[in-house]
Amino acid sequence: MKDWRLHIFSDFDGTIALTDVCIDIIDKFSNREPYLTLLATGKLTLKDFWHQVLKTFPSNLSIEEMIQFVKQTVQVDPYFVEFVNFCKENQIPFEILSDGFDFYIQATLDKFGITDIPYFGNQLVKTNDHYEPVFVYANESCQCENVGSCKRNIALSRLADDEVLVYIGDGYSDFCMVEYSDIIFAKSILSRYCNEKRIPHYNFKTFLEIINVLKKLLREKKIKPRRQAQLNRKKAFENE
Ligand SMILES: [Zn+2]
Repeated sequence: MKDWRLHIFSDFDGTIALTDVCIDIIDKFSNREPYLTLLATGKLTLKDFWHQVLKTFPSNLSIEEMIQFVKQTVQVDPYFVEFVNFCKENQIPFEILSDGFDFYIQATLDKFGITDIPYFGNQLVKTNDHYEPVFVYANESCQCENVGSCKRNIALSRLADDEVLVYIGDGYSDFCMVEYSDIIFAKSILSRYCNEKRIPHYNFKTFLEIINVLKKLLREKKIKPRRQAQLNRKKAFENE
């Protein structure tokens, strides 16, 4: 029997960070409305939401100011640092996949003294007098809806043949990922989505529950791929 190893990927906003840091930034430096309502009612795509809302930011606002704001205000799951240590102690690869922006993930990791965690997110670039979003990992070949970047190909390209894909998330940008994940930890909208689609998952409130479930699975040697996720990964490779 194959000896499966864990490879963990996590969403950032609302999952590691307790709030949507991008919305916190919008509230601090501009206004979320009417854009957020237009997004919620399907009148704006996520990409157009970002293009429009970023144009309302003060023209003299620097990334450094946004970083300082994040460092002062961001809160993370109370057991996140413990979780990172758990992964390191057990040599489990752990990476962050975000449809938010990479600069505030770095700022958050810096604030909590966390190093050596690979993270993938969108980028913010200043053109003339305003910011533009760059969706580095946008993926036309995936069917997932209303995301900037799709997390699927990043995860699949980094998963080794003997690894089981663990995914942790809470929201819309995670819907696509759960189809391809073996062990899923979900809260909020993602948990409801998994229930509707009958995708097996663990509900969680904090990362402590995730540590405990993974410890138990490791102890009982119950780490193995999920058949449907394996099939979906195979299909995704064939369609790329
Ligand atoms: Zn996708």
